[in-house]
Amino acid sequence: MKAAVCTGIGRIEIRDVPKPSPKPGEVLVKIRSIGVCGSDVDGYRGQHPMIGFPIILGHECSGIIAEIGERVDPGRIGQAVTVEPFFTCGVCPFCQEGTYNFCADLQIIGHQVAGAFAEYMPIPSKFAHFKPANVDFEEAAILEPCSGALHAVRRCKIQSGDTVVIIGCGTMGSFATQHCRNLGAEVVVIEPIAFKRDAATDLGAAVVIDPTTEDAAAKVKELTDGKMADVVIEAVGEQETLEQTVSLVKNGGTIMLIGWTGNASDPFDLTNTTFKELTVLGTLGFCRDFPISMKLLAAGKIDIKRIITHRFTLDQVQEAIEMLETGADGMWKAVVNID
Ligand SMILES: [Zn+2]
Ligand SMILES: [Zn+2]
Repeated sequence: MKAAVCTGIGRIEIRDVPKPSPKPGEVLVKIRSIGVCGSDVDGYRGQHPMIGFPIILGHECSGIIAEIGERVDPGRIGQAVTVEPFFTCGVCPFCQEGTYNFCADLQIIGHQVAGAFAEYMPIPSKFAHFKPANVDFEEAAILEPCSGALHAVRRCKIQSGDTVVIIGCGTMGSFATQHCRNLGAEVVVIEPIAFKRDAATDLGAAVVIDPTTEDAAAKVKELTDGKMADVVIEAVGEQETLEQTVSLVKNGGTIMLIGWTGNASDPFDLTNTTFKELTVLGTLGFCRDFPISMKLLAAGKIDIKRIITHRFTLDQVQEAIEMLETGADGMWKAVVNID
């Protein structure tokens, strides 16, 4: 089969590689669409702790089940699916508890195992989720970050009427905005790039703030009569914005850190975390979120197309990754399609 193999830093070669076979419990997916993600850029540049070379990158994907391994229902052949990008051991304490995103032997496609920039890819049958006909393959591929954002937002226990400040309207921020809006929150988005602020407004943000020209904390104070936000979601992953969360949240409020810098450790205002009695939450991937986000998408409660700006072929994976890296041509979310 044809695959885009990342053979070293800044090098992707289109190669003929052996077509994988599904092991027991697995299905082989004929890939149709793959989302290009910031972590593909990190991997391509040799800057991702979980990604070595050579590797087939790509972990946001959809396709059609072409083959099945033993113990998989033969009725699944031909089914259109979206892929939750995990291999889990099924037997460690976390898998047994049902928090499989903490699996002791968690392997992520495009990270520790071969990813989706290829014609075929195996995945555990339980992580190949049914795609209804009214959802297209591109949307189904980008359901991955949508599900990650859902996992984070569900952890925040948002109540109807809450003011939620989302720092950063990248891919994760745009989906967090929609999930929070769906829960009845008043969403305030802080984003320096104008076309992403426009998208945030279209996707349900009540207020957008340009941090390059406005004082975000003063604006949030004004919007909340001095109380500040019930929940602050950080979706950038810069030291500055991670630290900023504490100044935007109310006493007794909740901070969700979706973003991370990649540093071993970052400064954080723990004094005010204590004095303001804050709840600070992390998030890791997804755990039983895909079926829910698929249901929301199929019901028209999530807009994925709004953020897809560019489309590529499998031969153009390197170009797609490099364009995402530089943000050239106003690229936001890019999709690679295989016919
Ligand atoms: Zn991703
Ligand atoms: Zn496990």
